[in-house]
Amino acid sequence: MFTPDAMDLHPLIAPRSIAVVGASERSGLGRWILEGLAVFGFDGGVYPVNPKFEHLLGHKAYASIGDLPVATDLAALCIGRAGVLDAIQQCAARGVRAAVIYDSGFSETGAEGKALQERIVAICREAGIALCGPNCMGILNLSARSTSFKQTIRTAQGLAGNVALVSQSGSIAGTMLADLRRFGFSAVVSSGNEAVVNLGQYIDYFAGDPATNVIAAFIESIRDPQMFVAALDRAASAGKPVVVLKVGKSERTQHAITSHTGGLAGESRVFSEVLRAHRAIEVTDLDEMTEILAACQGARWPRGRGLNVLTTSGGQAELILDVATASGIELAPLAAEGRARIEADVGPITGDGNPLDAWGNGDASRNMPISLRVLDENEATDVIVFCSSDSVDDQPLGRAGRELDYARILVEAARNSQKPHFLMSMRPGVMHTGQVRYLADAGVAVVGGARQGLGAIQRLMEWHRAPPPVFAEDPITVLPAGRTINEHDAKRLLVTAGLPIPRECLCVDLASACEAANMIGYPVVMKIAADEVPHKSDHGLVAVGLRDDGELAAALARMIEVARALGAPVDSWLVQEFVPDGIEVFVGVSRDPDFGLSVAFGMGGVGIEVMKDFSLRMLPLRAGEAQEMIAAVRGAALLGAYRNRPAADRLQLVDCIERVAKFAWANRDQLNEIDLNPIKVREAGRGCMIVDALIVTRDAHES
Ligand code: ADP
Ligand code: MG
Repeated sequence: MFTPDAMDLHPLIAPRSIAVVGASERSGLGRWILEGLAVFGFDGGVYPVNPKFEHLLGHKAYASIGDLPVATDLAALCIGRAGVLDAIQQCAARGVRAAVIYDSGFSETGAEGKALQERIVAICREAGIALCGPNCMGILNLSARSTSFKQTIRTAQGLAGNVALVSQSGSIAGTMLADLRRFGFSAVVSSGNEAVVNLGQYIDYFAGDPATNVIAAFIESIRDPQMFVAALDRAASAGKPVVVLKVGKSERTQHAITSHTGGLAGESRVFSEVLRAHRAIEVTDLDEMTEILAACQGARWPRGRGLNVLTTSGGQAELILDVATASGIELAPLAAEGRARIEADVGPITGDGNPLDAWGNGDASRNMPISLRVLDENEATDVIVFCSSDSVDDQPLGRAGRELDYARILVEAARNSQKPHFLMSMRPGVMHTGQVRYLADAGVAVVGGARQGLGAIQRLMEWHRAPPPVFAEDPITVLPAGRTINEHDAKRLLVTAGLPIPRECLCVDLASACEAANMIGYPVVMKIAADEVPHKSDHGLVAVGLRDDGELAAALARMIEVARALGAPVDSWLVQEFVPDGIEVFVGVSRDPDFGLSVAFGMGGVGIEVMKDFSLRMLPLRAGEAQEMIAAVRGAALLGAYRNRPAADRLQLVDCIERVAKFAWANRDQLNEIDLNPIKVREAGRGCMIVDALIVTRDAHES
């Protein structure tokens, strides 16, 4: 029996021999594939299977799969839904190693289709057949010059490139294939229902494919989360960005919610955080995806954070700056030295030099090279983007050949530089194909639109700067299995991770409670400490600010009544230091059933649940992420200084978040949830105090 990860995908994605089952003279799928193989110049074996023909398009035809003279790598089943079960059985018997089923009417349509799909899957698994589909358009492989793709291929011209596309939607694959002006494909996979081979396996294959530099994925659902994230990691370590467009993010299944703030992981945001954690580049539409793929076409890829734009007009420079600023794209002003050099040679410049309007005296052939050289020599510049008026094919106005003159200047500058150079048009999708081709030959990529184009470059810059994880020590604590651990016991575990908790004592009766309160010093807080009551104040089992023995006695008498009515223990009371000051925040950890643990941060009160004002990161946490998490919460503005109130201790809050994350990661197999609500963040220098804690662990069999 073959496990999916052990499956060799070469016979499917880069077959050396292909049986086209159901090929015919008639125009249709089987014929398109035979013709496509001819257009590509496929030099492997081609075996049409159809009892009605002796020969088809120059190939000897065979009556059945069983009659094939060799066990082919691939069988493209162009025969209709009714015949596929039988055909797959024959493939298994003949030793065919991979197959494509195009037809729909399987798991996506209901019980009968699902059952049929399951039978096919069982046969494939048993025989080790790598199956693409059903309900897909098959696979196009430009480096292997093979195709099982369900479209007529008019020409191979311009199709080949360095992008591998895996799409769960066939028509999105078709859409992406329609525009080859700036990039081509190493391969295109329409993966369909992914009954056997899934998205993660395809990504994993392309992570190791020499013809692929960047991977694009259009995703409706993730069938094997573990495989998917492992493939993202493999691609990242191979230096290949994975650009992901996910639709239907809000449909994620919710999981059981054990505490007030638990279940945050059911948020669609978890998926975005998983992508971030595994260094995929998430995009929200095809335009954004397209610009990133285009930005990956240069000989040198963007790194560093210094982005400088050169323009030929003041209006353009102003527009680009406005758009960039609104989109969170940083264009740092040009340093005084560089500015002085430009002004000396080109004439006075308006604005702060980024974007740099280098029009000056209007002599572009002189001003552009000078400006590009200054940017190249400017230490803070990592990426140079040139933007002049947009050009298109067959443009009615302007001097012919102007766009190529600019392109030559840009290519010359790029040749003498180690920094990546880009040409940018003001609008996405507007370009002059001759100019694009000329630049591409010289290793200069073309992006479009200040927002989309610069945004794409910035995403790649960030991609190169992924910080290392905040490393976890080995597990230091042994968590009890399958337990909702009450505040007191949870805090005993948290102190082992160096987390700050107030002084407190567990007491059994009034006498011991009084003794503890006097030792800690009034005012104190008293609460029930019992696993059965995770949410204490819901039942009135928290009393804060008790000032003396009398108030303590009254509170205890009342709470014993409540506990008795609840059937909770009446001899387990926590007497705790009252922390009067500090801003209340929440830090929690929860488990997503697919993707594992994440840490969340928000402000106390209604912020998290009502306003959804919280931030989330997957574990393990990376350096700098705790700071980002605080910055991303709107309500965290409250942590700043305000009028007479001093700023809160953000540094210690960061430390707290990182320690919670480390603790959780070290105990990741046992943990289901941590809920620290609230943590009181005191003024700068005075640290934080975790005044309530709850830990929920998994059942022994889960971990
Ligand atoms: P619950 O189980 O209901 O969440 P908590 O322990 O969080 O109970 O107590 C409820 C509220 O009481 C907290 O949100 C906090 O505002 C306040 N509180 C609890 N413990 C303390 C303390 N030691 N010092 C000051 N306020 C506290
Ligand atoms: Mg609480």
